[in-house]
Amino acid sequence: MPGYEFFGPEERKEINDVLDTGIFMRYGFDGPRKGIWKAKELEQAISQKLNVAHTHLVSSGTAALTTVMAALGIGAGDEVIMPTFTFVASFECIFSVGATPVLVDVDDTLTLDPKAVEAAITPRTKAVMPVHMCGAMADMDALKAICEKYKLILLEDACQSFGASYKGKALGTIGHAGAFSFDFVKTITCAEGGGIVTNDEETYIKCDAYADHGHDHLGVDRGADLHPYVGYNYRISELHAAVGLAQVRKLDTFLEIQRKTKKIFKDALSAIPEVSFRRLPDASGDSATFLGFFLPEESQARAAAAAMKAAGLAAFYWFDNNWHYIRNWEHFKQSSVMSRFAPGLQQAMELYKVKQFPVSDALMSRCICTPINLGWNEEEVKQRAEKLVNAVKSAL
Ligand SMILES: *Cc1c(COP(=O)(O)O)cnc(C)c1O
Repeated sequence: MPGYEFFGPEERKEINDVLDTGIFMRYGFDGPRKGIWKAKELEQAISQKLNVAHTHLVSSGTAALTTVMAALGIGAGDEVIMPTFTFVASFECIFSVGATPVLVDVDDTLTLDPKAVEAAITPRTKAVMPVHMCGAMADMDALKAICEKYKLILLEDACQSFGASYKGKALGTIGHAGAFSFDFVKTITCAEGGGIVTNDEETYIKCDAYADHGHDHLGVDRGADLHPYVGYNYRISELHAAVGLAQVRKLDTFLEIQRKTKKIFKDALSAIPEVSFRRLPDASGDSATFLGFFLPEESQARAAAAAMKAAGLAAFYWFDNNWHYIRNWEHFKQSSVMSRFAPGLQQAMELYKVKQFPVSDALMSRCICTPINLGWNEEEVKQRAEKLVNAVKSAL
């Protein structure tokens, strides 16, 4: 990770196919496009790769989550349970459909704690949205059982975990629907892009319409399409889809490299008794984009992250990060929106001005994640593993 590290002639070839025809839009222009349909081709490739019935591409992961929430009927007054540790886009999308985010604690999987989810259910709960952070999975059996028991929608934010799986099923394909991001720093990239996957045909058809002004896409003449619903424009362009098409073909190579490198880092760190690792509900399905670990004390984690950075290693200490953990989401806590929320949502958000998350804090303040890059050679990996061990030891 990230996929852009291996941008090469394959991506250039796919982009040139589109440049040659000059048709950058995914719909219509059947004659001049000369059989080039990159978005369609990438959708088919993803469905096949993940063994899912339907894929619909859009312009970003944020657009994918917004679109699929609308398609699943999540709207005003509905509560969506989501974790305290995620990227800000997770709550942005809930706001964008007018629904209410309900933040709950993560556990040592760095994803939704199923017990915290169950405790947060109210008569207004409509959906549970686990976020498969840093390339690996939430406890999907437990979350699925809760959603079945309370008849809730299970929507997977799998934006960071394309190619990862849980008990043999691709992340994103286990709940009612899943969303991926193909932005520039994700596992595979379209430069900018996103995708929705689902086995439910109705959800797919609604996503397809929502992301293109409500068009039903049933006729041959776009101008004569009917609009059974109001939609918006979250279309992906053919140029972006072309990049993704070359990238998805490299996914297995990416995963193989990441898993091999991560094992070397993890084996090295295992020699330090104070280190404990992020719990993976199915280790074999980890896409291995990151290695996550905990130290016994916050002060040690801070010192270790600083020592790693000083040694030239990347260290994400999420507890202090502005984008991925609730502690510094001042704009969220203060509802700093540019136009007013609906009254009910504004009222529901008041709680976050004061709410604390001591359980999440206790975990996140001791956690460090280090990314696994694709471009390192064997010697570099060995040296980095050594530096990692020395940096962590120096903090204990
Ligand atoms: C990247 C990301 C998104 C949003 O994807 P964009 O393509 O950048 O809009 C959503 N959720 C998570 C967890 C992400 O990491």
